Amino acid sequence: MTVRTRIAPSPTGDPHVGTAYVALFNMVFAKQHGGQFLLRIEDTDQQRSTAESEQQILTALKWLGLQWDEGPDIGGDSGPYRQSERSELYRQRASELVEHGHAFHCFCSSERLDALRAEQMAEKRSSGYDGHCLQLSSAEVTAKLAAGDSHVVRMKVPSEGECRFEDMLRGEIVIDWAQVDMQVLLKADGLPTYHLANVVDDHEMAISHVIRGEEWINSAPKHILLYQYFGWQPPQFCHLPLLRNPDKSKLSKRKNPTSILYYQRMGFLPEALLNYLGRMGWSMPDESEKFTLAEMIAAFDINRISLGGPIFDVDKLSWLNGLWIREELSDEQLADQLIHWALNRDNLMAFIPHARARMERLSDIAPLGAYLLSGKLPITAEQLIHSGLDEESLIEVLQFSLWRLEQLQEWQRDTIFDTLKTLANHLEIKLKAFLAPLFIAIAGTTASISVMDSMQLLGPDMTRARLRHAIDLLGGLGNKKLKKLQKRFDGLGSEKVQEDSPQA
Ligand code: GLU
Repeated sequence: MTVRTRIAPSPTGDPHVGTAYVALFNMVFAKQHGGQFLLRIEDTDQQRSTAESEQQILTALKWLGLQWDEGPDIGGDSGPYRQSERSELYRQRASELVEHGHAFHCFCSSERLDALRAEQMAEKRSSGYDGHCLQLSSAEVTAKLAAGDSHVVRMKVPSEGECRFEDMLRGEIVIDWAQVDMQVLLKADGLPTYHLANVVDDHEMAISHVIRGEEWINSAPKHILLYQYFGWQPPQFCHLPLLRNPDKSKLSKRKNPTSILYYQRMGFLPEALLNYLGRMGWSMPDESEKFTLAEMIAAFDINRISLGGPIFDVDKLSWLNGLWIREELSDEQLADQLIHWALNRDNLMAFIPHARARMERLSDIAPLGAYLLSGKLPITAEQLIHSGLDEESLIEVLQFSLWRLEQLQEWQRDTIFDTLKTLANHLEIKLKAFLAPLFIAIAGTTASISVMDSMQLLGPDMTRARLRHAIDLLGGLGNKKLKKLQKRFDGLGSEKVQEDSPQA
């Protein structure tokens, strides 16, 4: 058997370190077995998927040194590698399932489904579809289809018994069928959901091992059942432990920078970041901390992955990065790295239009622009406190800005400005006073270029990291304070605070 693995990111945001981690283990496993590693773009969520995000994911993974043998940018024998270009295939497969009695048309309105969910919640029952449309006669179904009634296709699921499957790391996993919903496979617009597209593609692309994050374990029964319905041999499943923050919570951008772009901007070497990701749940047989990708491939043994949640600790990563800089780079190479990283014409050109009006001497560029090259800024609580607002408003401005900016889909100066201005209005604080602490947090001084321009130049993760740092300097926020703030924020009349989307 040829080993074929894949990474299947959804292009719905910044390139996540969790995606790189899962991609690394997939690639190493495939290479170790002389197999192939594929990249497939799962853009079935048309509302949230963007071409920009896809491009950033590909660029970030390449920057790290991860290479795939087949993918949307390089093609291959099993293409296309973007699910939005494979819709017809999924429609055919869904019809096949309906014809064989494994799936059915469901005409339930969203009102009915909402009412059902509310009822199930009120009665503290597990939520899920109740099989209403399974009772329709085939004549009724034909009539509704002929009338053009809006519908989805759902898979049938056994109502009792259990699904048993082997996980390469966890052994046998048993999940009751009663916990598995009659999943929608094809949406009303005729496009597939993740579950159908994922299974069809893994089969069509001859994926032998599905190595992915543990958040997908509960989806595995649906996938296994689909393989069975189609009469296909399922791949082997391996669910990797999720990356965690140092406090053991799931790695999320609420607590830590998760975008690969942030680590790039901070000046981590790709080799060091990849090395650190290789140590997430795995270690070299001789326990050496610093190793290359080639060394990892040579020594890899998937059975040595430990399931205790690996901690992604930025301080540890920094220490390892230091080793890479000091031990692997000559002075010449370090100079090249610095030029490549940020000390280059492109970056100067991005900053000069904002800086020139403030320059009298060329040397002014250093104090004017130093904060753009820095990581954490050496600011103090006093600076923030003296920026003009009372302490309560100060924390609100910083934390609410952080929450609002977390929700932004596109990171553009004008959108950032609109967001902050709306927030200032909601809080009834004059814009100038509102922006003052943000200037300190982001640029270290109120005398810098516009703080919105700075945020755009710094990118979303670095901006958030600096806001978080400012909040920490003011003593941070305990759970009680946070809850109170969240309540007030939710009452401000805009979107609610949302949790992260799953990794990978
Ligand atoms: N598109 C899924 C994701 O975004 C892929 C999950 C899987 O590997 O099956 O993580």
